[in-house]
Parts: sequence; structure tokens; C-alpha cells
Amino acid sequence: MHNFLPTAYFEHQFVPFKEANISIATHALHYGTGAFGGMRGIPDPQNPNQILLFRLDRHCQRLSQSARLLHFDLPADKIEQIIKDFVQKNRPQTSFYIRPFVYTSDLGIAPRLHNIEKNFFVYGIELGDYLSPDGVSCRISSWCRQADHSLPLRGKISGAYITSSLAKTEAVESGFDEAILMNAQGKVSEASGMNIFIVRHGKIITPGFEQDILEGITRDSVLQLARDLGIPVVERPVDKSELLIADEVFLSGTAAKITPVKRIENYTTPSERPITEKLRDKLTAITENRDSQYQQWVFPIPLN
Ligand code: PMP
Repeated sequence: MHNFLPTAYFEHQFVPFKEANISIATHALHYGTGAFGGMRGIPDPQNPNQILLFRLDRHCQRLSQSARLLHFDLPADKIEQIIKDFVQKNRPQTSFYIRPFVYTSDLGIAPRLHNIEKNFFVYGIELGDYLSPDGVSCRISSWCRQADHSLPLRGKISGAYITSSLAKTEAVESGFDEAILMNAQGKVSEASGMNIFIVRHGKIITPGFEQDILEGITRDSVLQLARDLGIPVVERPVDKSELLIADEVFLSGTAAKITPVKRIENYTTPSERPITEKLRDKLTAITENRDSQYQQWVFPIPLN
């Protein structure tokens, strides 16, 4: 059970989390017609009167785009303001995760997106490590990542997470920590809730958008950091066999941050991970506002 932040935003107002409840007849619950975001924040280690949110602008833009795919006009700046207010009302004391959600809130049946009420809520949980920072083992899933022509993958659509859920449970129930999904073409796509990177011969390689991946914000940050650090990066299709013989493999995501992969199926990844560690240290310093070069990625929310 999670520790929920005490106040939620629900039906246009801030209410105690326990009072933010929906009906069993809610349309989105039946049809997966919701979309969510997920962002992290921490109390500023340098200033107790301030919370730091990582890449708030990008998270709000992505959610607004996901909402558009669901025929819901919810501007990014409106989401941003509600999230700032949400943080100020909750005053989190530890590292936390914010979950904003847009959904078809009508009560009634028939799958559709037109002529139907939509709504937006936000809640939060305290969240430390989501995956072990020492590294994880991964199973290559028997479930394949959906294709963009069957499901709008540029949005973080809730219904899409059936595949992630099947893959994650298949992996865990067979003794692994995480799942890596291939796409319909048999190329590496991503993990259940993370993008994937490999390192070969000093070069970082990650599947591009044409491999049916989510537009990960951590992925975008990793690519930019690597380029700035002078590490060559390539976005291109990755074969399963490359994954198995890579020098380093890591996952990136808001919850997972940068998590090394120790083993894939019955192949062990080398234990030396200089590039993964360098990127992880850099990302940690940035999220804690200790790196002035990337200050524009950190949104300080004053608690006054
Ligand atoms: N892929 C999927 C399927 C995800 O759910 C997530 C988590 N949002 C990611 C990748 C990583 O995205 P981000 O770095 O924006 O959290």
C-alpha cells in the first residue's frame, strides 16, 4: 500500500485524498479511455521552503497531448498551475510522485470519445526507489508492444497498460524483475514502464520513435546529457542479440530513474557500467538542483 499525499485535486477542487472517489460506472474504468502523467518531486535539499519538480513543463505538455488524443482540450499551462497548487497544498516531506489523470468521467456504457464528459484529477504518493538501484534482471516478454496504428502510443493512454501489466507479471512470476518488450517487427521497444538504452563500444544506442516507444522524458534527458558529455548517441533499431551482448544496458523512466540491467534472460551483462553510472550521477545532481547547467529542467515550487 502506498503512502498517499493527503490532498487530491478532484472535480475542479482540492479535497482530502479519501474523498476523491469515482463511481463503478465510470466510463474510463471500463474502456481504458484515460491518460496519465507521472512526475517526480523532492524537497529541495538546499532549501527547506521549496519543492523541486523535474521537467514539469514537459510532463504537462505530454499530458495535454495525451488528452488531445482522447478529444479532451486541457491546456498544458492549466495542468501546470494545478500541479503547482497541488504541491503547495500537500507540502511533501520526502521524495514523491505525482499522478495526474484525464479520463472519460461519464457514467454509462458504449466505447467512444465524442459527446462524453471528461475530467481531470491529480493525486500523489511518497515514492523512493521503484526498481533496485543495484540493477535488475529482465525477461524478454512473450507479449509484444502495441503498434501506433492500433493504439496512439505518443500518448500515455491508460488502456495501453494492459500489455505492460501482462509483461511485468509474466516476468516477475518467472523470477525476473522487469520485462523488455519487442515490437511487432521483432525489434527492441521498451520495458513495462521505462525506455531502454544499450552501450556498445563507448556508444549509446536506443530505439527511436519508430520502434513504438513512449516519448519518455527521462529518455530525452539522457540523450541530451550524453550529447553534452561528448558520448556518441544513436537512435536506431536494436536487435535482441545486440541487447544480449551489450557492454551496458539500462532503463530510464520517471519512477525508475536510471536503472542498470544486470541480466537479460540467461545472459549476464558486465558488472562494470561506467557510462550508466556517469549518466545516473549527473541526473541525480540535476534533480537535486546541484548542477547549474541544467537549472531549466528543475522547477522550484516555493512553500512560503
Ligand atoms: N515507457 C512507458 C511505457 C512508460 O510508462 C514510461 C513511464 N512514463 C516510460 C517509458 C518512461 O517515460 P518517462 O521517462 O517520461 O517517465
